[in-house]
Amino acid sequence: MKETVGCCGLDCERCDAYVATVNDDDALREKTAELWSEMNHASITKSMIDCLGCRADGPKTPYCESLCEIRKCVRRKGFDTCGDCDELEGCETVGMVIGGNPDALANLKDRD
Ligand code: SF4
Ligand code: SF4
Repeated sequence: MKETVGCCGLDCERCDAYVATVNDDDALREKTAELWSEMNHASITKSMIDCLGCRADGPKTPYCESLCEIRKCVRRKGFDTCGDCDELEGCETVGMVIGGNPDALANLKDRD
């Protein structure tokens, strides 16, 4: 599984934080910070938009680094992703992502 698939199966390469980071695009950082602040009713600043993926080496957003319950659970159990977990199909934690995203589930089941 490529390194830029997150613990939950989402493709980090499609995330604006990732795109802004690899292109060092400050305008996209600004736009993403504004959008995410609105969506999450939180104060997300431009400097937080710096992320190379939650399973990759390198910078991560504060959310990916220490708040995401899916990533915390995966790390606690010593897994690489939720695809390693026997509870995947019935799990409410990762279900919030894969329930509405068949591509993420397919990524988790892709063992290559
Ligand atoms: S930080 Fe959480 S939601 Fe984001 S890609 Fe990683 S596991 Fe998925
Ligand atoms: S319990 Fe859920 S969130 Fe935790 S590793 Fe298993 S599938 Fe992922």
